[in-house]
Amino acid sequence: MERLYPPLTAQSWDQVGLVSGDAAQPVRSILLAVDPTQAVLAEAQHRGADLVITHHPLLLRGLHAAPAHEAKGRALRTLIGADIALYCAHTNADVATDGVGHALAEACGLLVTEPLTVSEGQELGRVGDLPHALPLAEFASMLAHRLPETAGGLRVSGPPDAPVRRVALLAGAGDHAFTQVVASGADVYVTSDLRHHPALEAREQARLQAGTPYLVDTAHWASEWLWLPMVARRLDEELSATGHGLDITVSTLPTDPWDFVVRPGETGDARGAHPVTPTPRGAS
Ligand SMILES: [Zn+2]
Repeated sequence: MERLYPPLTAQSWDQVGLVSGDAAQPVRSILLAVDPTQAVLAEAQHRGADLVITHHPLLLRGLHAAPAHEAKGRALRTLIGADIALYCAHTNADVATDGVGHALAEACGLLVTEPLTVSEGQELGRVGDLPHALPLAEFASMLAHRLPETAGGLRVSGPPDAPVRRVALLAGAGDHAFTQVVASGADVYVTSDLRHHPALEAREQARLQAGTPYLVDTAHWASEWLWLPMVARRLDEELSATGHGLDITVSTLPTDPWDFVVRPGETGDARGAHPVTPTPRGAS
């Protein structure tokens, strides 16, 4: 993992690497997930995994106690009790060649990309051109089919029939990068966690000009999940080359926090709302 995603390429505020476990313990079976939730750790136990690799850190901010009645304490106890190690590759995975940004770029249909921005010397986000211009709605629908399904789906800002060719993207929370997106000349910006004020202000400004960039807001979990099959493939290649074939599984448990959406006239039950079908494509 450290050859593919060097810890030194992580942002200075980040916490990556071995979170819990013994670097000397043998590993036969690995579970890959975006978040180390209780459900993911239960899956690891159920599968007999020795190592869980996640994108998001369990312990990003300071922790002063880890009792069992607090979620992070519970997670640590589960890991230690079951002798499962936890390893995390976060912003170092965002910037790598076989990283989160490249996985999302692939799903957007981009063949060649350049960095959207540079932070602490590392390339963050991608920008590239689609082979052909597509109507915004068709582009969003194509992306929706390539992302694992979530209750909220994709939110789009812009005219459905407007043509888009140049795409900027930033996996994870991306409403801090509008300046770079505008500078990139992108027709559409694909990211997650867009808040009201930054998104509205960006769209208001765009309307004074050519109307672009339009926005596609995906579930944070969904866009970063795309990286997991890529890690599985790269780890398998690296380990097979050394004669160590390991059992590597990509978790398909959605760790998106939202379970359903309700529109007027709907009751919020499984019929009226939009239940999650955890069947991400490419899962193994
Ligand atoms: Zn993230």
